[in-house]
Amino acid sequence: MSLQEIQEKFAKAEKEAGRAVGSAQLIAVSKVQPDERVHAVLSEGHRLFGENRVQEAAGKWPKFKEEFSDASVHLIGPLQTNKARQAMELFDAIHTVDRPKLAKTIARLAQEMGHCPDVFVQVNTGEEEQKAGVAPQEADGFIAECRALELPIKGLMCIPPADEEASLHFALLGKIAERNGLTGLSMGMSGDFERAIALGATHVRVGSAIFGQRAYEL
Ligand SMILES: *Cc1c(COP(=O)(O)O)cnc(C)c1O
Repeated sequence: MSLQEIQEKFAKAEKEAGRAVGSAQLIAVSKVQPDERVHAVLSEGHRLFGENRVQEAAGKWPKFKEEFSDASVHLIGPLQTNKARQAMELFDAIHTVDRPKLAKTIARLAQEMGHCPDVFVQVNTGEEEQKAGVAPQEADGFIAECRALELPIKGLMCIPPADEEASLHFALLGKIAERNGLTGLSMGMSGDFERAIALGATHVRVGSAIFGQRAYEL
């Protein structure tokens, strides 16, 4: 699909959900994609991107930003505390804050650096062993902890289990956000973004549907 086709599908899904067109932000997930494909999407005017590795983003985004200074990049993959400083220099938002040690590190660095990216708390809605994210029953406590640290929490993020109906997980994430007074919902990918928009997604992470299949998976 082209960027334009995805944007049209976004607008249609927003209208069908009774939402304002443009109320869901499209994050173009450029991980692993060849530079020329990413450059093409930048040239078409898109400005919001997602990467899941700090190192990979550090290797390509400073260069792209020389040409497209208003481009914005969000971290959507796991973050190790020893890379937090670099991540805070590179990214405008971090979608994967999921443990006290990381939250405390970001809060300390924010003091020192004088700025902090927007923060999303990742929730492991499917309670999968191998997946990052705070367990749903621990989310309220962790959100409170992040607030006590004065982190700029925008909302919640989830990656539903591959073999389950994503809508159930989107609905659960929405509930947790609502009871915590959070409006941001980072959810939905190439295969299910319309369902995510129907359930209130504000940040939708679409990779392969825009750029084509990745050459390899991370
Ligand atoms: C890769 C990735 C995506 C995009 O996946 P597609 O299926 O290519 O749209 C979204 N979210 C996260 C966290 C990812 O790592």
